[in-house]
Amino acid sequence: MPPPSLPPTIPACDPHDGPASLQLIEDLTTHAGAIQRRVLGEILAMNAGTDYMRGFLGADADGRHAGELAPAFKERVPVVEYEDVKPYIERIANGAPSSLISSKTITELLTSSGTSGGQPKLMPSTEEELDRKTFLYNLLVPVMNKYVSGLDEGRCMYLLFVKPEIATPSGLVARPVLTSYYKSRHFRERPDSPYTRYTSPNEAILCPDSAQSMYAQLLCGLARRGEVLRVGAVFASAFLRAVKFLEGHWRALCGDIRAGRVDAARVTDPACREAVSRIVARPDPALADAIAAECAPASWRGIVRRLWPRTKYIDVIVTGSMAQYIPLLEFYGGGLPLVSTMYASSECYFGINLRPLDRPENVAYTLLPNMCYYEFIKVEKDGETVRDGKVVDLVDVEIGGYYELVVTTFTGLYRYRVGDILQVSGFHNAAPQFRFVHRRNVVLSVDTDKTSEDDLLRAVTAAKRLLAPLGAILSEYTAYADTASIPGHYVLFWELTPPPLPATAATSDDGATAEAEAVARVMAACCAEVEAGLDAVYRRCRSRDRSVGPLEIRVVSPGAFDALMDLCVSHGSSMNQYKTPRCIKHPDAIAVLEARVVGRFFSDTVPHWEPFQVDDAAAATATATDEADGAGATAAASLNEGAPA
Ligand code: AMP
Repeated sequence: MPPPSLPPTIPACDPHDGPASLQLIEDLTTHAGAIQRRVLGEILAMNAGTDYMRGFLGADADGRHAGELAPAFKERVPVVEYEDVKPYIERIANGAPSSLISSKTITELLTSSGTSGGQPKLMPSTEEELDRKTFLYNLLVPVMNKYVSGLDEGRCMYLLFVKPEIATPSGLVARPVLTSYYKSRHFRERPDSPYTRYTSPNEAILCPDSAQSMYAQLLCGLARRGEVLRVGAVFASAFLRAVKFLEGHWRALCGDIRAGRVDAARVTDPACREAVSRIVARPDPALADAIAAECAPASWRGIVRRLWPRTKYIDVIVTGSMAQYIPLLEFYGGGLPLVSTMYASSECYFGINLRPLDRPENVAYTLLPNMCYYEFIKVEKDGETVRDGKVVDLVDVEIGGYYELVVTTFTGLYRYRVGDILQVSGFHNAAPQFRFVHRRNVVLSVDTDKTSEDDLLRAVTAAKRLLAPLGAILSEYTAYADTASIPGHYVLFWELTPPPLPATAATSDDGATAEAEAVARVMAACCAEVEAGLDAVYRRCRSRDRSVGPLEIRVVSPGAFDALMDLCVSHGSSMNQYKTPRCIKHPDAIAVLEARVVGRFFSDTVPHWEPFQVDDAAAATATATDEADGAGATAAASLNEGAPA
């Protein structure tokens, strides 16, 4: 039995009681090992009787003591990826009982930005999980107050958005995790607190039209300019999109503030318009003039600080792929600290940053041991080769080591590979702190899109067929995410053989030859075809969220990729083992290709996207086999093949 002094699994946390909340963090991190053992015990006690777990632990697992089950869990339950659990989740989406994987009712499915077969992965969630998330959000308040004073003397301008949701065939809702949280009563009916008073009314955050929501939220943020103590969004890319939107709309926004109204043509959603109208009810020409005076100069350097002079920091995640936005945020922020407060996912919320004012490159997240049961696959590097090493517990990771995160959640995921690679940077008491390194296999990301080398290869392979009319073939390609302007976009460098472009054809404005026009048409079609071949999250970012700009192909002159190889070799790559990198990040590598660009082409078609449908064909097969084999046997059988006897 764990010592009685351990905090409950979802401890009560009053964000206004700083000392008690900080003490709670001390208790959780000091007893990380014991709490993890208890978490595993609770999950097993709850879920050993599910179809999934019985497949590994035996039909009598339900009645066995947690102390007995834990070793069996480690021995027999395999470490899995999404493909392994997908059949279960799809069956639940199609009406099978939650008890396939969870003794608690699965109340919704969370659509991850990770994809499987081109569509978002679906993560199970339960009502209780919202309490766990609220607990983690509550902890952020006292941690921030420890470092920044006076945060109760105004408001936060957090630009938060919801995304579309769908109903699965069984009637379960499938939607992104943040949409789920913002729509929950935990968020909508949150107790009034001076620390979490937002500039945006709930109606503006919950407005389903993202352009209206953005306009409305910026209007409120500007109208309440004098109260704003911190600004932010979840990810850096979203905050910069808001700055860009402001650049395009500040005149209209100032017009509304001047007139004391909300432009009814721009905000048509009745609930949103009404809520915002209450905030801008009074004409305020002086405020409109002051805002316009800040926005009118050509340079927007330091605009955030200038528009919201009381703001103390920008609350946005700038770790992982979001690090590419740090220079732009520093430009607009005028030196405001960039604060990444938490590390979370659709699978589960994991941890918080205990030193929020640390520079982005030093940010480490302390995984809270009560959120789920964590394990870590050691990432072993052998020269260029990366191998999976042994699996260790939370308290057994070593400083400096690289690990892939594996979680067992309260919601029906068991030993599930999240796909994030983390490095241990230190410990807070017994709880390790992790630097987010990268997401496994992801080579390109602008917003929440995550494109792997394989995804890119597949899309490029389909697109290069369109080169046939030019009599050219694609001999080399590589890519990078160009985020120098907002929205960022994917750039592909293509070397074609034979080169289709006379060196000047694509750049001359008038008098462009018919040949150059034909090339331009084909290349634009190639850009569109690459986009059409990328996954649903990319296409949603491009077509619905507009958070990714049109894909660009830059045709380079013959020999450009030899020059890239020379550069890589001069930086230490082995000549014999050299392979063209499919993604480049280093400015020198980009510059080598950039210097040899002979033509630039953009996608002229927005790729098709619609909210995905759960594949009931797949589920129907699973159900039919079920009936033949006995409930729950199908997917467990395929999993059992990988399980030790
Ligand atoms: P999703 O599954 O769409 O909810 O996205 C969750 C993923 O976003 C995580 O697995 C990480 O790859 C990434 N992510 C979340 N929080 C952070 C963070 N603080 N820093 C870097 N990446 C993060």
